[in-house]
Amino acid sequence: MSDIIQLLPDHVANQIAAGEVVQRPASVVKELLENAIDAGATNIKLLLKDAGKTLIQVIDDGKGMSTTDARMSFERHATSKIQKAEDLFNLSTKGFRGEALASIAAIAHVELKTKPVNEELGTSIKIEGSKIISQDFISTGAGTSLAVKNLFYNIPARRNFLKSDTVETRHIIDEFQRVALAHADISFLLHHNNNEVYHLKAGNLRQRIVAVFGTKMNEKLVPIDEKTDIVTIQGFVAKPEFSKRKRGEQFFFVNDRFIKSSYLNHAVVNAFDGLLEQGAHPSYFLYLTVPANTIDINIHPTKTEIKFDNEKALYAMLRATVKHSLGQYNVAPVLDFNRDAGLDTPYHFKGGSTSGSVPKISVDPDFNPFKEEQQKAISFPFKREKETQSWESLYTSVNTTDAQQNESLFEHQQEEKTQKTFQIQRKYVLSLIKSGVVLINQSLAHQRVLYEEFLESITIREANSQQLLFPVKISFSSAEIEMIYTIKTELENAGFSFDQFTKDSVTIKGIPVSVTESKITIILEALLNDINLEVPDASFSHFDVMAKSFAKTLSIKTGTLLSEKEQESLVNNLFSCKEPTISPFGKATFKTLTLNQIDNLFNS
Ligand code: ADP
Ligand code: MG
Repeated sequence: MSDIIQLLPDHVANQIAAGEVVQRPASVVKELLENAIDAGATNIKLLLKDAGKTLIQVIDDGKGMSTTDARMSFERHATSKIQKAEDLFNLSTKGFRGEALASIAAIAHVELKTKPVNEELGTSIKIEGSKIISQDFISTGAGTSLAVKNLFYNIPARRNFLKSDTVETRHIIDEFQRVALAHADISFLLHHNNNEVYHLKAGNLRQRIVAVFGTKMNEKLVPIDEKTDIVTIQGFVAKPEFSKRKRGEQFFFVNDRFIKSSYLNHAVVNAFDGLLEQGAHPSYFLYLTVPANTIDINIHPTKTEIKFDNEKALYAMLRATVKHSLGQYNVAPVLDFNRDAGLDTPYHFKGGSTSGSVPKISVDPDFNPFKEEQQKAISFPFKREKETQSWESLYTSVNTTDAQQNESLFEHQQEEKTQKTFQIQRKYVLSLIKSGVVLINQSLAHQRVLYEEFLESITIREANSQQLLFPVKISFSSAEIEMIYTIKTELENAGFSFDQFTKDSVTIKGIPVSVTESKITIILEALLNDINLEVPDASFSHFDVMAKSFAKTLSIKTGTLLSEKEQESLVNNLFSCKEPTISPFGKATFKTLTLNQIDNLFNS
């Protein structure tokens, strides 16, 4: 048999290697930002077009490269950062594998411009799919600019696999935030399609966190500071009352590198023991500094997981430190969401015990998540009378002639004045039908109703909007503003109207009729959260995510007392839905118990 094994040509090997390093535009962003930091930059600019699909450019004022280095930097395993294997265990740089530029150049159009401070002329190199197209001397400022255009242009399968611009932008912003949070002393600029998304000035850690997440973050932070022989722990945790329903603002940095660690996360969550409602996630920004020789960074392709020598000790120390700080700052007593909502103060108002400080509220001091639901449990934006008749006819009712004709299903059973619905434990609505009873889950049923209504109004695009008497200005982080901006049209279809976008706020002058003013912030925050968590498939539609998100946020919840009228209108509205049987998230909205089934309960 003849020999069949061949070495792959470099450009093919690079393309394969690229698969590991570069999954999406955000991966390129991470590598380029890290290179700029390793080069000692103090100002870093990130310019994007079309969520990085068209352009990702990083411009730094770091040490630059000589002409030979510029050429070398695109070779595989070409790095200035380590020389021998032992160096791996004493890293002070982000990069060390020497793979990123080679990989990126294999799958994109790349343009490098670079100049060390003390050189007269700089170098410009253009590469497409690992092939050098041109190399020139240029006059340029000190530092490096690397532009990556048309990512995956030669791997259509990868390019087609990219998600919507919103999702890819979100991934990029995540990477950007991680790098920016790890380096408060470096100034960062982020422009997307010529809009400034972030302009982060060099400063201290608190300033950086607030600049990234918006001014309302400032009052939430509890500082953490502990030095021991094996680790220094610094940073902040957010007070428990600001914990999130979804995992979100959770950041660990180890030696200035963002990492993921469910083990360390567990330590922090554990420290919040008793302070968090079930299912809530604390926010934290924790910076661990350990001796470089006690960790192994080279265990994960994107270096976001690392191995610690003293994992157990770190766990214990982290837990103790966070617990101690929470105690010292005397934050919030135990929060219990399950108690009688009617007697409760909104959880924002809870806070310090007698000696503690009461958390201030920056967004909406009048917001009470329970009050409104008590008073005005269900708000239905549209008149549904016409459609409801068909379902109502299924119920017994003396004055409906239709019902009489519809006797195949139901027959008269009730006196007109008799109550037809009952609420059980503020959770279920029981409704009588001829053949037995229906048990409706009030929250899931209302989700279905709202979901269909929103979907209809968003897709049909008839604005069911109410103008606000006074436009409301809401502050968000720049990343959030960017997200809202990309889904502005859909939000407008849903009934929102916007007045003014700034870098960290949006002014809203109209809202959907089913939304009350006090809920604007929560529903937008929940929506952004849901879009972030969304793992979209090809049929990804913001409409659907939006309708689901709004339905979930605005639906009446378990624990809400419903008047008889409200119960009935819920039942009617549910059964005039196109798909009354399941919630938008696939759960059963009601169950029927037939008379037979009830009889059987007694016969067994
Ligand atoms: P690594 O970062 O693992 O060394 P890269 O492929 O990312 O590998 O970069 C290769 C080399 O190119 C780096 O080691 C560095 O010497 C040089 N380089 C890359 N980006 C820059 C930059 N922005 N400024 C100066 N040098 C850079
Ligand atoms: Mg690198």
